[in-house]
Amino acid sequence: MSDTNINLLVKAISSYWPSDPSDKARRYIGQFYDRTRLGTKISGKVEGNHGTYTVTVHLQETNLSSACSCYIGKGGNCHHCIALAKTFVKEPLGFRELETRKIEDVKSMADLEIYLKSVTLETLLSQLRGKGITQKAFAESIGMNTRHLALIKSSEKRNRFYNELGATKLAVLWALEHLADSER
Ligand SMILES: [Zn+2]
Repeated sequence: MSDTNINLLVKAISSYWPSDPSDKARRYIGQFYDRTRLGTKISGKVEGNHGTYTVTVHLQETNLSSACSCYIGKGGNCHHCIALAKTFVKEPLGFRELETRKIEDVKSMADLEIYLKSVTLETLLSQLRGKGITQKAFAESIGMNTRHLALIKSSEKRNRFYNELGATKLAVLWALEHLADSER
């Protein structure tokens, strides 16, 4: 099925960014390392003017979104995002396909690492909300400032990772498994 994902992504990128990249974007094409793909989401790192940037392009249904950890890349669409997309179109197989794990198959620390990388804090918190537990209630129960939890979540979306991201995901997973659905 991975070929399908590659084709979908290449097609979406070509229609989203149909024109030739700017000179600014062009000089980053092919310069990415740690190139990976998880389904229809690609990721890569690149040396920018102010350090290393983590860049992602993600196709969900028919919606293409991108994000970059550079100072203008918050909502995506910066020249690093375009360059990553064009790098992928040129050489899709240069992106290593990431393994995935289902939560019930996580048995070792290696599995855990793979699993935690494949699920976002936002997804886990929305599953928690499905149990009737709000982000605010969860933060308070683990003694975390509500705004800090929101920051960890929004930072992950723009490829800036807090040290406590993995631990926070684990805390949500614990709550998902052990807490009963609360009344809404
Ligand atoms: Zn950027």
